[in-house]
Amino acid sequence: MEDIIQIKELSFKKLLSKELIKKRVKELAKRIDKDYCGKNPILLLTLKGAIIFAADLMREMKIPTQIETIIAKSYGMNLSSEGKVEVIENPINLNDKDIIIIEDIVDTGYTMQSLIKRLESFNPSSIEICTLLFKPKNIVVPLQIKYIGFEIEPLFVVGYGLDYAEEGRNLREIYIKVD
Ligand code: 5GP
Repeated sequence: MEDIIQIKELSFKKLLSKELIKKRVKELAKRIDKDYCGKNPILLLTLKGAIIFAADLMREMKIPTQIETIIAKSYGMNLSSEGKVEVIENPINLNDKDIIIIEDIVDTGYTMQSLIKRLESFNPSSIEICTLLFKPKNIVVPLQIKYIGFEIEPLFVVGYGLDYAEEGRNLREIYIKVD
């Protein structure tokens, strides 16, 4: 795979190799296994960006888990979210459950904030966040993120489930936008 790729009008360069992602996903799975030993957490996968991350993460985990999905949509087609988030959940019983939100990326934190507010109304036993990527320089709302794969610079990324206008999700590595 080339180190520089083009998606529509944008150029991206390779940021995280598939080997590095695999290694980190294994480490996260091991930590979650340890922290949730004896429990049966719900992995709540945010569609669509976290699909690949969640699939790899759960296959590295040893403890019993249930997987459920939720949609958290930021409005607009821009490269950054704008603080308006719509949450659409499936009818699942979250009462007294341990939830681990599996997210592709936390940028400003607005999506996670809206999601957590919505989930709290179902009275779960606990809610933790597991995100593959985190842009600490962009965070606007205070969030406690228990599991972080990689901290990255505040630039737009694609690959490994993350898209640009619905393209690039199938890339095996993660690419970052270049000017
Ligand atoms: P936040 O609400 O934290 O600002 O943004 C979270 C959502 O914005 C993510 O779930 C993702 O859908 C989108 N997002 C933020 N940064 C990026 C990025 O660099 N690349 C892609 N593809 N999506 C992003």
